[in-house]
Amino acid sequence: MKNKVTRLGVLSSDELRNLAYDCYYQFLPHFKGQPEGSLTGIVSIEFSSRMRQKLGLAYLFEHKIRLNLDYFAADPSLLPYTLFHEMTHLWLYDCMLDPGHTQRFYKKMREFESTGLPVDPDVHIHSRVAAEGKFVYSCPNCKNRWYLRDRLSYSIYCGHCFDKEGVEYFAKQIKTPVRNELNASDADTAA
Ligand SMILES: [Zn+2]
Ligand SMILES: [Zn+2]
Repeated sequence: MKNKVTRLGVLSSDELRNLAYDCYYQFLPHFKGQPEGSLTGIVSIEFSSRMRQKLGLAYLFEHKIRLNLDYFAADPSLLPYTLFHEMTHLWLYDCMLDPGHTQRFYKKMREFESTGLPVDPDVHIHSRVAAEGKFVYSCPNCKNRWYLRDRLSYSIYCGHCFDKEGVEYFAKQIKTPVRNELNASDADTAA
């Protein structure tokens, strides 16, 4: 008996997965041993049919990339570009740098041009570039990190732990002084 392959437009979900991992390994040298640092550990890539607004999403703390199944099944031409974009988010996070759409982020995305693969013109040159977060905060519970431009005088939990622990717990803990922040110069030494 033949294996039944689910056809979704042009590519099956297996073909999409293979394409994504081929691209991942092709791009990996751009994210290893760089002056800023390296992408570390394993990145899991998954496709979701529940994504509507976005082509891809990087889950920094989970080290996971989620791609829009329906979109890429119908037209995979921008899959490599989207994957490179999400890998850039994870790479910056692993380098202890602001993983947002900063100047540094778009400078990295320029490297994608050397692959000769199609570029998404809508996201490649952003008219609005986010300023680099100067303060890095770490969730006291799970150690997830995020970057803010302003210094906070209290400790904050990440959204995930906030949801899990509930409002009461959050309200109690919010008064504890911040112990995990680095100052701007610390945050920049990886550059
Ligand atoms: Zn992005
Ligand atoms: Zn947390």
